[in-house]
Amino acid sequence: MEKILKVYGAGLAGCEAAWQAANRGVKVELYEMKPQKFTPAHHSEGFAELVCSNSLRSDSTTNAVGLLKEELRNLGSLIMEAADATRVPAGSALAVDREKFSAYVTEKIKTHPNISVISEEVTEVDDAVTVIATGPLTSDGFAEYIQRELVGEGLHFFDAAAPIVDADSINMDVAFFASRYDKGDADYINCPMTREQYDAFWEALVGAEEAELKEFDRQQQKKLKVFEGCMPVEVMAKRGHDTLLFGPLKPVGLVDKRVGKESYAVVQLRKENKEGTMYNLVGFQTHLTFPEQRRVFRMIPGLENAEFLRYGIMHRNTYINSPGKLDATYRLASRPNIYFAGQMTGVEGYIESAGSGFVAGLNAARQLLGEQETVFPRKTMLGAMAAYVSEGGSGAFVPMNANFGIIEPLPERVKGGKIAKYEKLSARALEEIALIKETL
Ligand SMILES: Cc1cc2nc3c(=O)[nH]c(=O)nc-3n(C[C@H](O)[C@H](O)[C@H](O)COP(=O)(O)OP(=O)(O)OC[C@H]3O[C@@H](n4cnc5c(N)ncnc54)[C@H](O)[C@@H]3O)c2cc1C
Repeated sequence: MEKILKVYGAGLAGCEAAWQAANRGVKVELYEMKPQKFTPAHHSEGFAELVCSNSLRSDSTTNAVGLLKEELRNLGSLIMEAADATRVPAGSALAVDREKFSAYVTEKIKTHPNISVISEEVTEVDDAVTVIATGPLTSDGFAEYIQRELVGEGLHFFDAAAPIVDADSINMDVAFFASRYDKGDADYINCPMTREQYDAFWEALVGAEEAELKEFDRQQQKKLKVFEGCMPVEVMAKRGHDTLLFGPLKPVGLVDKRVGKESYAVVQLRKENKEGTMYNLVGFQTHLTFPEQRRVFRMIPGLENAEFLRYGIMHRNTYINSPGKLDATYRLASRPNIYFAGQMTGVEGYIESAGSGFVAGLNAARQLLGEQETVFPRKTMLGAMAAYVSEGGSGAFVPMNANFGIIEPLPERVKGGKIAKYEKLSARALEEIALIKETL
């Protein structure tokens, strides 16, 4: 019997998944609802449409997303082939001509002898091996079906996440470990503020520039009433000078043993992963622009040189609470014929979406061909992302960009600073990728 893989959604993840499976001899049916129906952010008929920036971010392997690109290039990714073929000058970033990029991918997909494109909105799944890659703006009917039939309550429709910083960039001469009232382990890193520091921080926060809120985000926020549960920190600050002191910056019970007393205010940072290489700013979900987050949050004592692994965000984003539901091949544990890929899985970003499409498409094809699954090691960025999605961190699951905080740490400390460390991590990852490539 002919082996058919169904791929839903011809975005970055779906096209990569379809391409990988088709190149392995599997017949692929790729379903895309455009041009009959468009999400609020998609406007063109082509596949792999870049809905916002035309930058795919850094192309240097001392940057995590740069490493991810190099891994994908080495493995024969369609999205990277298209990006390299349509790039425009952008310094050390890889930016593309978005129309040419989309046209390149569309042409490759449509002319592949193993891929048939079906223009329709998907509303349900059947027993076929399937990759669902309908993206952060999955059509309402299908999103409801996914929630009802496939993942239960574990589907989020909105993303309100606090920034995450690199643990190594926190100044521990200022910050200190403690839990409130010394209860349990001292798991939190606490950044203490004097009255003067708090005043300056509050002034900066209430005056900081917010990102533009798209109309569909505004409607979604209203619909879901998310602001009651996760109000942006700047909105809370605008309610009054002292509001934060009774909320996320509450100092009571947090004593810096070095000075032996409570501070005027304290920002708490919670471990984002088991290894403790990443920390999130508790209660700091925000809608400020990224440069403003960097400026204002670096005013927090101890975070003067903080490196932001991801910024806080608030926007419509359909994604699964994946840990425990998806495995490291992006396969749904409760329905082994179903894989998810792209932003829906809790990866965040264009290349991250393509990367998960690569892993899901490859493994869906291997399942159909009766081959063993391929789990990428956590020493690679592809594997680190799949591990993050399938296992999560220690707090609530939030979508994540590629970053060096999720990759398996090096066994020893590297001399020569951050760049030397990233060079080593990248070299190790690319060696692993070369080994895996031989098995594919
Ligand atoms: C407004 C917005 C701006 C963003 N800006 C950036 C950015 O600048 N940089 C960045 O790195 N990331 C950005 N992202 C995040 C993310 O990386 C992109 O959304 C990325 O395109 C996700 O890839 P994907 O393949 O998961 O989904 P998509 O690229 O969105 O592809 C999903 C496809 O599925 C189709 N589809 C949806 N529902 C159905 C259905 N029921 N049946 C059939 N087809 C369906 C859609 O039409 C679409 O073609 C943004 C996200 C949003 C929502």
